[in-house]
Amino acid sequence: MTENSRLIVAIDLTDPERSLELAEELHGEIFAIKINWPLLMVAGVKIIRELSRYGKVICDLKIADIPNTNHLITENVRENNGWGIIAHAFTGSDSLKAVVDSAGNMKVFAVVSMSHPGSDQFINPVSLDLLRMAVSVGAGGVIAPGNDIEMIKRIRKNGGELTIASPGIGVQGGNPADAILNGSDYIIAGRSIYDSENPLEEVRKINRSVNSVLP
Ligand code: C5P
Repeated sequence: MTENSRLIVAIDLTDPERSLELAEELHGEIFAIKINWPLLMVAGVKIIRELSRYGKVICDLKIADIPNTNHLITENVRENNGWGIIAHAFTGSDSLKAVVDSAGNMKVFAVVSMSHPGSDQFINPVSLDLLRMAVSVGAGGVIAPGNDIEMIKRIRKNGGELTIASPGIGVQGGNPADAILNGSDYIIAGRSIYDSENPLEEVRKINRSVNSVLP
């Protein structure tokens, strides 16, 4: 994987073989892979280690449990060579801190805002409170919606040096260059890449569009 790309590819496929093939095809031109429950449930935890042969694997488990359970899940991902882990912030500082404390060298991304319409009901109105808490317990990154530019700006302004990774690109309406221009460090895209005729060309297109707005 390459530091020259700001793209994290969400592999939400349920076919482990196809996931590994996609990782092999794309790994030279992307920053990281993100996996989620659909793949993990079918393939089992060993898929984290298998994919990590190609580079950084972020486990989007959106952990949202009591501190001890969060600790056990995080430890498992770390032992299987995960590079990053995503946990919900709304469960409170003790639960999120359990993830941070168990993560070792892994990067912890806290979900402080979401990209689907229902997020305006509960999570998005308290995003800045969640953000402050995430900073206070030592999370290194946050997830902020790439299809809500105002939210990205607010999180950038209040999040200091935190790494911002933004899903909601492509199928959910966000534009990669706009997200980066307004404060995201990385963009996350899934279906627009793995459902396309030519995933590698799609990756290159996104990289070109992001590079065109970088200094
Ligand atoms: O296919 P698409 O590009 O919409 O995939 C986005 C990925 O990012 C999915 O894995 C989804 O679960 C995840 N995600 C999201 N919004 C968040 C957090 C994670 O879409 N706030």
